[in-house]
Amino acid sequence: MNSSNPGYETIVKRIGAAAQRAGRAVRLLAVSKTKPAAAIRAVAAAGQHAFGENYVQEAVAKQRELADLDLEWHMIGPLQSNKCREVAQHFDWLQSLDREKLIAPLNRFRAENAPPLNVLVQVNIDDETSKSGCAPGEIAELARKIAAAPRLRLRGLMAIPEPSPDLDQRRAAFRRLRELFDGVRADYAGVDTLSMGMSDDFELAIAEGATMVRIGTAVFGKRETRDERRET
Ligand SMILES: *Cc1c(COP(=O)(O)O)cnc(C)c1O
Repeated sequence: MNSSNPGYETIVKRIGAAAQRAGRAVRLLAVSKTKPAAAIRAVAAAGQHAFGENYVQEAVAKQRELADLDLEWHMIGPLQSNKCREVAQHFDWLQSLDREKLIAPLNRFRAENAPPLNVLVQVNIDDETSKSGCAPGEIAELARKIAAAPRLRLRGLMAIPEPSPDLDQRRAAFRRLRELFDGVRADYAGVDTLSMGMSDDFELAIAEGATMVRIGTAVFGKRETRDERRET
């Protein structure tokens, strides 16, 4: 029997309803950056399996504290090349691969006895110069190189559209991502994940094709203000 956790359960229900309307299964990634291990433990006790972290050091410390639990860890923050080894050793998924340079080290450092590292290509869908993510025109080449790396498994695309108050603009960004995702999926077997939608727009993202939503605030409550886009 899972313990009760009302905030979490509300989100799970809303995702379930939106997924049913869309006629597609949708996974929840609980984004636990800046939250203590105890908060993760509570959400895990309510039934959550997959957690997302932005900072490698912080994630590894929490993973140690939670080593008694069977959890799935996703790296979702900007990745420096000197962190490839730790990501390959400590995570199940990397959602923020946005440049070719990261592929060889990730492949090299992924242990032979571990399953391949699941990888999403992060796309810069709104062309904001300050943000991470590859240009849409670079997806095909990155996908080809990831698919050719034996210790990596290409699973799809991730993006963080500009948090515009204009819902039509967000919807348009989600639609473009869906089209790009369909293109990649047509070319590679095993591509099944379109990671888009956060606390304030996940229902829209699901309506437009998300198969995974990444939710922090609506599951764990507000974070202390801190530069969340800092390189890890
Ligand atoms: C922080 C973060 C989220 C979650 O954002 P919320 O608005 O708190 O739901 C999702 N994706 C990425 C990449 C993040 O950095």
